[in-house]
Amino acid sequence: MRFHLILTAALAVAGAASAQEHGGHAQTWTYGGTTGPERWSELDPANAACAVGQQESPIDLTGAIAADLGPLRIDWSAMPAAARDTGHAIQMDAPAASEGGGSTMTVGGKTYRMLQFHVHQPAEHLLNGRRFPLEIHFVHAGPDGILGVLGVFAETGEASAPLQAVLDSLGAETHPSLDPNGFLPAGRDFFRYEGSLTTPPCSETVDWVVLNDPITASQAQIDAFERIHPGNTRPIQPLHRRFLLRSGH
Ligand SMILES: [Zn+2]
Repeated sequence: MRFHLILTAALAVAGAASAQEHGGHAQTWTYGGTTGPERWSELDPANAACAVGQQESPIDLTGAIAADLGPLRIDWSAMPAAARDTGHAIQMDAPAASEGGGSTMTVGGKTYRMLQFHVHQPAEHLLNGRRFPLEIHFVHAGPDGILGVLGVFAETGEASAPLQAVLDSLGAETHPSLDPNGFLPAGRDFFRYEGSLTTPPCSETVDWVVLNDPITASQAQIDAFERIHPGNTRPIQPLHRRFLLRSGH
């Protein structure tokens, strides 16, 4: 009987630890209120970096040091337009390499494979203190498990055809081909810094690349993202002892 009680207690502890590891009993996080960014670290022990991390994202892209960062190569291929709502953002998953995918980004001599892209409204990074109405994050995975995320800002102007394709694909039954290269501005000057996921668990495993030049999106498109997930934007984080670099040309 005593053994049974001890065993039951041990299993209960193991179960609780497992639930925390997998986020099973962790509270759902939000962008405001009692489960907002200031409380993310309290929702799950796995989110500790959200509060105590020294290399967190997003940041204000200001005071950058010009450096020879080598070329930024983007080799993206078309993918089926099939956006979904993750509960925190509108996201489109890239097909796996085995399914005809294999869009890549190469920077700093490392090649990262695209996993997905998603939209923040308004932008998460600031550019010299300026906040754009949208920021698109193209999330890639490197060979060592480090993520390479490319951030692209959008300012108000002409409508974006690929952004419209994303909106139109929400809940649609057919999935026309979408060329993600349509999201790229002509100018390819970029910022680089080492940072984190901007959502829990805020892991500091991201090589950030943010393009200096914005694309445009129409006010109607910006409003559409605002209606679905208004303010899915983590507050600006301190730079601490990090270098912010920008391509020097
Ligand atoms: Zn993001």
